[in-house]
Amino acid sequence: MTQITFLGTCGGRFATIYQTRSTGGIYIRDSINMVIDPGPGAILRIKEYEIEPTTIDLLLISHCHPDHYTDADVMVEAITRGGIQKRGAIIASESVINGIEGFDPKVSKYHLSRIEKVITAKAGENHLIEGVNITTTPTIHTDPSGVGFKIQTKSGVVTYTSDTSIDDDVPDSYMGSRILILALTTPIGIKLNHHLSPEDAVTILKKVQPEKALLTHFGLRAINSGPESIAEWIQQRSGIETIAAEDGMIIEIGEDIEIKKSLKPP
Ligand SMILES: [Zn+2]
Repeated sequence: MTQITFLGTCGGRFATIYQTRSTGGIYIRDSINMVIDPGPGAILRIKEYEIEPTTIDLLLISHCHPDHYTDADVMVEAITRGGIQKRGAIIASESVINGIEGFDPKVSKYHLSRIEKVITAKAGENHLIEGVNITTTPTIHTDPSGVGFKIQTKSGVVTYTSDTSIDDDVPDSYMGSRILILALTTPIGIKLNHHLSPEDAVTILKKVQPEKALLTHFGLRAINSGPESIAEWIQQRSGIETIAAEDGMIIEIGEDIEIKKSLKPP
């Protein structure tokens, strides 16, 4: 059994600063436990959803925007049990680890020094972390070093696109996914450069044919227009079952994929 918990489901500038929904990223419990893109509030959601933070083994950070990285250092402290044990792994974009032009590094040197395995990722690589294979996928985004993650869990491939627009190659990199988590930012009919729109989601899903699509990273306009109606629109056009994730939603993946409704923060 593999379990995905959505710590947060919004993204983009205004949904983040107003915390219209949470921005905590995604927690995956598998043969190892991982957090993807711990944005503002990730550690708070981990507490609220009663996840034991010191059981996190791997941190994945796709790119250098605050809705994706702000709680990175505190995640490292969780992984390393307060910095005391050198353990765990981080796979993150060049911008997050080393900094690139226009982006300073986003994990401190001290915190990087406490992690056993630090991987500066480029798209198209495979990395084996304690028996779990992770492939980095390309993105077309304002952080040119950004990546997505394709995770070979014990229940099949779970892919997270991160923020990207699409060309012919980007959807190809998602082939073989059982679950595709799309960072869908805009409502129907609105295209924002370097982000996925509902129309892009239909194009991707028709090509990739995953068992289920999960939408997250909703921008303010997408939240206001109703994420469930966006999911229904995508499902009708792609023929792929599409779920709009909610904060605290848990997905259990075994032979079947079960959606549990949200754990509301206390
Ligand atoms: Zn971004």
